[in-house]
Amino acid sequence: MTRTVPDQAQSPAAGAEPRGGDGSTLAVAAWAYFEGELVPFEQANVSIATHALNYGTAIFEGIRAYRQHDGSLAILFAFEHYERLRRNGRLLRSSPPESAAELVEITRELLRRHGVSEDIYIRPLLYKSARSIRLQLTGLEDRVSIYAFPMGDYMPTDGLRVSVSAWQRVNDNAIPARGKVTGSYVNACMAVEDAHTGGFQEAILLAADGHVAEASAANIFVVTGGELATPPLADDVLPGITRDAVIGLARDAGYVVTERTIDRTELYVCDELFFTGTGAQVAPVASVDGRTVGDGSSPISLDIQQRYVAAVRGEDKHYAHWLTPVDLDQPSR
Ligand code: PMP
Repeated sequence: MTRTVPDQAQSPAAGAEPRGGDGSTLAVAAWAYFEGELVPFEQANVSIATHALNYGTAIFEGIRAYRQHDGSLAILFAFEHYERLRRNGRLLRSSPPESAAELVEITRELLRRHGVSEDIYIRPLLYKSARSIRLQLTGLEDRVSIYAFPMGDYMPTDGLRVSVSAWQRVNDNAIPARGKVTGSYVNACMAVEDAHTGGFQEAILLAADGHVAEASAANIFVVTGGELATPPLADDVLPGITRDAVIGLARDAGYVVTERTIDRTELYVCDELFFTGTGAQVAPVASVDGRTVGDGSSPISLDIQQRYVAAVRGEDKHYAHWLTPVDLDQPSR
């Protein structure tokens, strides 16, 4: 694939503006991938007539790159995220010009330009870039954009206070939860907004039939009698890449893990509860609707969390295949 990259000599310094810390303005890296090129972030802008901006017709991903125990940088599940992006694109009849492998390479190059070996969040977007008000999906140009910014914990990992939302998880026959469709995240925003207003840190959404689906941007695991359970993919949940990884990691550690429908009341009577997600990582839940989860100690959740951290930081070589190294020392192209 041909793509032009601005001359390094004319480029802004890595980590340059814009900066901000209020949650609405991101401290982004100086570069972005936009319309087939790596460009200074400030130049990566779309028209107000963009279809995706008007109708939420985009699919996004969230990827992390972790500082490794040896000081290097590696992207977690790089191919898996871009494969999911391309697969989910079919829901919106979108097919990006870049292959998953090319998107991984572009991301590595973006991080090389950024040049910093710290924990980073990467936000790819496959969006309907056409300027159009037509309510349709075909015949509209698709583009991929990618930007990145430094990020530590997206949500607390030392015991979350959560509530069950009055908002229902958007169902598969409305906007598929499996899709990571941008427009459907209004649903998550509504739930989190109400949770925060009520003094909670996160929301759990139920599916239309009243069963547990997932948190606003994380999958859920309940632990009862030493065994783990998580809702099946048909219960209106995103097929989380972390969910998959944690199922494997927990089984490797000797835990029994089942995928089964979970009742709301199990949230109140289980021994432990934790969220998984690229952003959430492995985040134990301390209370649901004011009820302490189990005895509040979460030993199994913390064991899984520890194993996960060791894997993503490259300390546990058994999971080295989860990671794609970024050669920060190699000069950018
Ligand atoms: N559910 C939803 C609704 C999400 O947005 C996310 C974050 N991508 C997850 C679950 C966790 O998915 P993953 O582990 O692939 O990040």
